[in-house]
Amino acid sequence: MPRPRCLWCTEPPADEVAVLKWRGEERERLTVNLCLKHLSRLKEAGPKGREQKGWSYKVGWW
Ligand SMILES: [Zn+2]
Repeated sequence: MPRPRCLWCTEPPADEVAVLKWRGEERERLTVNLCLKHLSRLKEAGPKGREQKGWSYKVGWW
């Protein structure tokens, strides 16, 4: 079984986080693994979220 890694890089994940992924009217609620660096960047982005490959992400499902 492959070891879990961060959604956005090859680092081992620091935590499993509930995130909202959205683009326009499309919404997806996911639980993803993020490394410390990407987790803190996502938290810093706040409710406005962080864009990655055309999708916006933020912490929390609402
Ligand atoms: Zn990462």
